[in-house]
Amino acid sequence: MPQSQTTAIARLAPSPTGAQHLGNARTYLLAYWSARASGAKVILRIEDIDSPRVKPWATQQAIDDLKWLGIEWDYGPDIGGPHAPYIQTERVSLYQDALLKLIESGRVYPCTCTRRDIETAASAPHIGDDGPIYPGICSRWSRGDRLPEAGSFCWRFRSSLDSLQFVDGCAGEQVCVPNTVLGDFPVTRKTSEAAYQLAVVVDDHEMGVTEVVRGDDLLASTFRQLELYAAFGWQPPSFTHVPLVVGTDGRRLAKRHGDTRLSHFRETGVKAIEIVKWAAISAGFDFEETRKANTLEVLHAFIIDHFDWRPLSRAPVVVDDGTLAS
Ligand code: GLU
Repeated sequence: MPQSQTTAIARLAPSPTGAQHLGNARTYLLAYWSARASGAKVILRIEDIDSPRVKPWATQQAIDDLKWLGIEWDYGPDIGGPHAPYIQTERVSLYQDALLKLIESGRVYPCTCTRRDIETAASAPHIGDDGPIYPGICSRWSRGDRLPEAGSFCWRFRSSLDSLQFVDGCAGEQVCVPNTVLGDFPVTRKTSEAAYQLAVVVDDHEMGVTEVVRGDDLLASTFRQLELYAAFGWQPPSFTHVPLVVGTDGRRLAKRHGDTRLSHFRETGVKAIEIVKWAAISAGFDFEETRKANTLEVLHAFIIDHFDWRPLSRAPVVVDDGTLAS
């Protein structure tokens, strides 16, 4: 993060690859309450670099969803701010500069391997998306060797043999040897556009982000990101990974669990306050004041005043048809 920074900064980072659902709402609310409780500024950043999957309507819908929930941000695409632009596709030159540093320091090599690896690289790899550990086929390349034909390779990061650790704000102490557990990972796509891991680290650093709160399906990604922070010589933010919201079958919320899109609730007359209350109660803020609050302002203010990570369960949160009146 930029030197001599004193302000705490958090971020909300929706990917406009589809509609935001209940699970996203709960994570954003926790990130927002935590930020406000610690006096942090909040950034809204749109993570739209996964171009094949991005939906043209989804950015505005995500903004509408967040506003509907009463979440406020200090900087973002609709407001501007000191680190604008806040849309990843408008920040690609920063990612290219960072990539050059990795090439110069020999931390990445060109990799012509399978399509699936590259697809995984494009967006945040959630649980189950990670695929096999890269077997190192292309890793013998060194600087000065001939590059494969443009468009036929991605840049892949040489993962570390050292054990890394960090203390997660929710999940506790985490330890991993990236090379054996996760393997070398792509930092670009074959088109040389930045992949999620590179873009998110460059943005969090450039924007001075000090605290990251996100779903625990990105826990393994944190080790990859810590490797990038170390390679650039940057200070990483704190990380808190919150349990996912799942259906009664224990699987991550999806279409098979019914329509849990926030836009659907909004359009069918569900009140945002019901969703915020559900998120608060499911996160351990089950107080009389939570249940009785009759405006979003009062509810948010109460939770922010009493915010505490400790009551948050580490188990996934289950929703079923009766979770919200709809
Ligand atoms: N944009 C990512 C997603 O919606 C979140 C990435 C992050 O918080 O680091 O899955």
